[in-house]
Amino acid sequence: MSVTTPDSAEALRFTVDLDALARNYAAVCAEAPRAETAPVVKADAYGLGADAVAGRLWAEGARSFYVARLSEGERLRAALGPAATVYVLDGVLQGTAPRLRAAELTPVLSSLAQVEAWTAAGGGPAALHIDTGMNRLGLRLEEARALLAAPGRLRRVDVRVVLSHLACAGDPGAAMNRRQLERFGEAVALFPDARASLANSAGVFLGREYHFDQVRPGITLYGGGPRERPDPRFAPVATLEAEIVQVRAVPPGETVGYGADFVAERPMRVAILAAGYADGVLRSLGAGGYGWLAGAPRRFLGRISMDLIAIDVTECEAAPGQRVELLGPNVLVDDVAQAAGTIAYEVLCRAGARSARRYVGSVA
Ligand SMILES: *Cc1c(COP(=O)(O)O)cnc(C)c1O
Repeated sequence: MSVTTPDSAEALRFTVDLDALARNYAAVCAEAPRAETAPVVKADAYGLGADAVAGRLWAEGARSFYVARLSEGERLRAALGPAATVYVLDGVLQGTAPRLRAAELTPVLSSLAQVEAWTAAGGGPAALHIDTGMNRLGLRLEEARALLAAPGRLRRVDVRVVLSHLACAGDPGAAMNRRQLERFGEAVALFPDARASLANSAGVFLGREYHFDQVRPGITLYGGGPRERPDPRFAPVATLEAEIVQVRAVPPGETVGYGADFVAERPMRVAILAAGYADGVLRSLGAGGYGWLAGAPRRFLGRISMDLIAIDVTECEAAPGQRVELLGPNVLVDDVAQAAGTIAYEVLCRAGARSARRYVGSVA
């Protein structure tokens, strides 16, 4: 089965290639063959749409998924049905235990207070987040030891997974990776009956010793490289295309856009696209941005507006109604991120938020 949104009149189109997603998932599985691959689909699958993404990954064999928020977990439960294991990285926040239980979500407990809250609510399956040096979420090792030393404190908590998160996995040379690996080894030894999970996308590429029982990739599934630069092993999944609204001639000496930043030094042809920062095209791209039209990059001219961008089409054919690629196989997400001074994660989350999403490839 193949689905597309019928509204082909959308001036801005965000297309998600589910077959490319499936290939990227297979590439991660092949890299970590002894571990379970548990896709991370938080933030609506990094803007690509968690229902469709998780549905296809389920069809590819994924059985465990990670989300950040309770509401994301509830939605995923509804989409995937009762057999999926859905981990909620927020864990048990104030008053959420009843809803976690009702949707049979598995909280990732990240503090002693959360362990107590889950216990007070009746307990059950959970993951335990151990901090190994990032100091974001997680129990310190000594807290985990204290927990085990006090009989009864974990009696109602069924610790299925012990996990930790790497701070510098994108940099294989960072000494932090080894330090975290060693500390995680100590944590794993404390919970011999639980499964162990350490690696995000970049962690998968640090080597087998980082894989443990389960890996948690996000960005590579969605086409970003594990090391914040394009990686041919991972195919682009999201394509953003904007329609040309108008093509205009700009005489030498005139300017383009807000602030009159760009000055034409010769006669130019300029195409105005129906996309802007409100659509997630990051304003910080400025003149470093480009769209792909007629087989080549066409640079952005001047500042990005809320709903519009100007590009240089002096050297090519361009007409209203044509579509210009702003993200996709020719405009790689890691390159866009670098030009905008950010990371692929933010580019995808922002671009996916407003556009009319279309899915191509088989749904399940
Ligand atoms: C977001 C997240 C991941 C996935 O990270 P990627 O770099 O996108 O692969 C894995 N684990 C945790 C705890 C996360 O928060």
